[in-house]
Amino acid sequence: MSVRRAPRGIDGHLHGVIAEQLGIAPEGFDYRILNRSIDSRGDPVLVYRLLIFSEAELPLPPAGAEQLAALEKAELEFPRKKPPRHPIVVGTGPAGIFGALALAMAGAEPVIIDRGFPVERRQEDRKAFLRSRILDPDSNLLIGEGGAGAFSDGKLYTGTKDGNRRFILEQMIAGGAPPEIVYLSRPHVGSDLLPLVSKSLRKRIEALGGVFLFGKEVTDILDADGVCRGVRCGSEVIEAPAVLLAPGLGGRSLVRRLARKVACRLKPFQTGCRIEHPQAFIDRCQYHCARRPEVLGAAEYHLVSRPEAAGSVSTFCMCPGGHVVNATAWERHSISNGMSDYVRGGEFANSCLITTLSPECFGSFDEAYAEFDRIEEALFLAGGSDYTLPAQDAAAFLGEKPGLKNRRHACETGIVPGRIDQLLRRDVREALQAALKHFDRRYPGFCREGKLIGVESCVSSPLRFERTEKGESLSMRGLFPAGEGVGGAGGILSGAADGLRCAMGILS
Ligand SMILES: Cc1cc2nc3c(=O)[nH]c(=O)nc-3n(C[C@H](O)[C@H](O)[C@H](O)COP(=O)(O)OP(=O)(O)OC[C@H]3O[C@@H](n4cnc5c(N)ncnc54)[C@H](O)[C@@H]3O)c2cc1C
Repeated sequence: MSVRRAPRGIDGHLHGVIAEQLGIAPEGFDYRILNRSIDSRGDPVLVYRLLIFSEAELPLPPAGAEQLAALEKAELEFPRKKPPRHPIVVGTGPAGIFGALALAMAGAEPVIIDRGFPVERRQEDRKAFLRSRILDPDSNLLIGEGGAGAFSDGKLYTGTKDGNRRFILEQMIAGGAPPEIVYLSRPHVGSDLLPLVSKSLRKRIEALGGVFLFGKEVTDILDADGVCRGVRCGSEVIEAPAVLLAPGLGGRSLVRRLARKVACRLKPFQTGCRIEHPQAFIDRCQYHCARRPEVLGAAEYHLVSRPEAAGSVSTFCMCPGGHVVNATAWERHSISNGMSDYVRGGEFANSCLITTLSPECFGSFDEAYAEFDRIEEALFLAGGSDYTLPAQDAAAFLGEKPGLKNRRHACETGIVPGRIDQLLRRDVREALQAALKHFDRRYPGFCREGKLIGVESCVSSPLRFERTEKGESLSMRGLFPAGEGVGGAGGILSGAADGLRCAMGILS
């Protein structure tokens, strides 16, 4: 079937196509999609890997063990031991919530503490922020149920092949994520569906005996003789046999406090800028046609530049048909990021151009965090002190001069002309400039059509807490630091997998 004429929900219409290709009757077989991707090196084509079940002799190789494994339900394997009672989980982002789910499934009845509020209230608080421009430090895009994951874009690809990936995806589907995430090569849930998943995971954990304490900020851990015995929430002390600590990047103050008493070290981290283009331009570059075929959906891209004279840069967290957001958790700070809804139907595409800063750039983690504060505060002021984000045409950024001709945008808090080139460190600016020239050769018009919006300082943690293989802190027994804020993960799937690993560590 020609891609151009295929229906949008083509995955449900493959029966006839397969029957025709294999020369068998449509009623004589069934099938399962193992993988779907888009090959757009030439005319774009959809590529499927299918598992076909039929009594008839088929001109196909028999399924191997790997393909058959896709039919089995993904289960967690719990240690055969009585679980510790009421361990604490700090944070309800992907790391905390999947850690809590595993602990609850094992019968440990975890107590889950989050500084923010249930996701339904968070959704209302987000709307109120956009109207009033008054940021609530306890309820924003980073803080609250679901963590940064709840309103993240919901792309679920990861470089790591964690053994629990299928389990995580199946739990998300049970909670309302689209079923195709198990077989898409680049699965995506969407910022509109993710809150449903968070809510459903909470209900599941509660049904298994877990207890959620919202609106409670963990300010410290309770430690005695190198053993973590619970947490402090201001003057309140909550004791526990173990603590799974997953405060995410929004938990900076807690992470910085613990970094003084728990083994950790500086690690490389990423920083960069959002760039936005008309989605129609990206579609033309990727699909090589004037109008994209409906079935393919909004085009994505992933570009890498490795110049000799400057640091390497890649595009990251690309949001086709999405919008740019101000994802700050701190008052008078601004941080850009991106989102897209499930259908990715918006007029613009955005992604982050990121480069990596090595630990040698900073003498200590305090210096690294001070650098975040400096950039985020400067960005806030440059946007007019109301969380509007400053923006600059990519061509003007290259020439280091003011300019914002591309005034149309899909930035939630709005944009104003600004000098992004002057807000960045010199090494970051030079790396981004070299990359933009390279990307413009790959996709002519990339600079003409693109504008840089804000600075993305909150991409990864500058710190990694040192842990054993089971996820326990090297210096503090009973403490299991997990997820993005402690340098254990870099996204939704890897965060969830890290939370599961730490929960298994607690159970063993
Ligand atoms: C706008 C946006 C888009 C993104 N898009 C994607 C994407 O498409 N794909 C992807 O893989 N990743 C994406 N990410 C990143 C992803 O969301 C994070 O990597 C992931 O959520 C990290 O999970 P986590 O559990 O470690 O931390 P978080 O999700 O940040 O959760 C941390 C939790 O801890 C709580 N907390 C913090 N401090 C305290 C405290 N002191 N006491 C109690 N609770 C506390 C917070 O309220 C929060 O619930 C995006 C992020 C953002 C902001």
